[in-house]
Amino acid sequence: MSDTLQSVRGMNDILPAETPAWQAIEGLLKQIMLSYGYQELRVPLVERTELFKRSIGEVTDIVEKEMYTFEDRNGESLTLRPEATAGIVRAGISNGLLHNQRHKIWATGPMFRYEKPQKGRYRQFHQFDVEALGFGGPDIDAEMIMMSARIWRELGLDKIKLQINSLGTTESRGVYKEALSAYFLQHETELDEDSKNRLHRNPMRILDTKNPAMADLVAAAPKITDYLDDESREHFSVLQELLDQAGISYTVNPRLVRGLDYYSRTVFEWVTDQLGAQGAVCSGGRYDGLVEQLGGKPTQAVGWAIGLERLIALCEERGCVPVLEHPHVYLVLAGEGALKPGFVLAESLRDELPDVRIELNCGGGSFKSQFKRADKSGARFAVVLGDEELAQGTVGIKPLRGDGEQQTVPLADLAVSLRQALAL
Ligand code: ATP
Ligand code: MG
Repeated sequence: MSDTLQSVRGMNDILPAETPAWQAIEGLLKQIMLSYGYQELRVPLVERTELFKRSIGEVTDIVEKEMYTFEDRNGESLTLRPEATAGIVRAGISNGLLHNQRHKIWATGPMFRYEKPQKGRYRQFHQFDVEALGFGGPDIDAEMIMMSARIWRELGLDKIKLQINSLGTTESRGVYKEALSAYFLQHETELDEDSKNRLHRNPMRILDTKNPAMADLVAAAPKITDYLDDESREHFSVLQELLDQAGISYTVNPRLVRGLDYYSRTVFEWVTDQLGAQGAVCSGGRYDGLVEQLGGKPTQAVGWAIGLERLIALCEERGCVPVLEHPHVYLVLAGEGALKPGFVLAESLRDELPDVRIELNCGGGSFKSQFKRADKSGARFAVVLGDEELAQGTVGIKPLRGDGEQQTVPLADLAVSLRQALAL
C-alpha cells in the first residue's frame, strides 16, 4: 500500500468495533464528573508554542523532544497540544475566569507527542482531564483522587495502585535541588547522557529517568519528603488522613516527580503492572504557581489526566470492557413490495420507540441472506415484512437468540409487542 494511504505512525484509527468501549467509558466518566459538580471546558487543539514552553518547562521530555511544532502561514510558531492543562489555564486567564473564582472543570480529546510508538504509547492519544482551579487545600486533592478511585471501582478494575508524593513549594524544592545536585555530582560518571545534560539545568528530572541502568543510583538519592516545608508537610499529612478515611490505599513514593515542571505539593500517579512498560494510567498533581507563571493572578490549582488508550487496554486485560451495543431489532424486508412500506415502518418504529436500536436491511438480498445479516448484527429480534405479511397487514417477530417461536402480530401492535418482547 502506498504511504499516503497509511495513517501517520503512532496515530491510530479507532474502528467501529472499538468505539462502543470508548463511548461507554467516556459516558461513565462524564456521568461521574456530573455527580461531583465538574463542568466541561473545550479548548483548541492548537496553541502558541510559547504557552507550552512556559508552562511545561524547557527542560522536559515533552518540550525538548516530543512537541509537534510548526509555523503557520503567518510565520507564527504553533504546537499541537501535548497535554490539556496549559490550554485550560490559558483559557481561564484569557476569559477572565480565574480572578476570585473557583472552577471545577473536565476536558477530553486527543493529545500529540512525538514519542517512539509502542503498546500504550502513541503519537496521537486521548486524555480525560480534570482540573480544579482556585482551590488550595488538601481536601480538593483528596476529592480528585477519590474521584479517580471511583472510576476504577465503577469499571470493576483492580490491579491499579496509587502512588503519592509531595514536591513542596518552590522554596523548599530549591533546597532539595541543591542536595540532589550535590549527590548526582558525586556520581557524575554513572549518569547517562540525558541525565548529565539535566544535572545542571534541572536535576529533579533525573529522578524521572526511564533508564533501568540508573535505577539504583536514583533509588539512593536524597528524598524530597525529607526537605518539605512545614505547610507542605501538613498539607500532605491531611491528604493522607483523608485517603485513609476513605479506605484508599496508596504508597508514598518520594521519587515520583512527574514529567512536567509546573507541579508543587501533591503529585500522584495510578499505576498498573498489567500493561507492560506503559504502566501509568492516570497522573496528576497540584500546580499552585502555574497561573501566575503564565501571567494570571495567583490561583492555586490541582488536576489529573487519564490516558484513555491505557485505561481501555487495562479494561480489556482485566475483562471489564463495557458490552457492545448491538441493535435490538433487525428489519428484514422480503420481496420487492416490502421496500417502500419497510422504510415507512422503520421510521415510524423509531418515532414510537426512540430508545430501541433498529437496523433496517439495506441492499436487498434473499430471505436467507438477510437472516444471516440479522444474526451477525447481534440483534435480539428480526422483524419480518414480506409479501404475505403485507397482504394481511401483519408483521413477523422472530427471536434471534435462544429458541423462542416466531409470532405474527398486526402491524398496528408491533411497537407494543416489541416493547414487551424487549422488556423495555
Ligand atoms: P509516561 O511516563 O508514560 O510517559 P507521562 O508522565 O508523560 O507518562 P502525563 O503527561 O502525565 O504522562 O499524561 C497523563 C497520562 O496520559 C499518562 O498517565 C498516560 O496514561 C497517558 N499518556 C501519556 N503519554 C502517552 C502516550 N504517548 N500515549 C498514550 N498515553 C499517554
Ligand atoms: Mg511521557
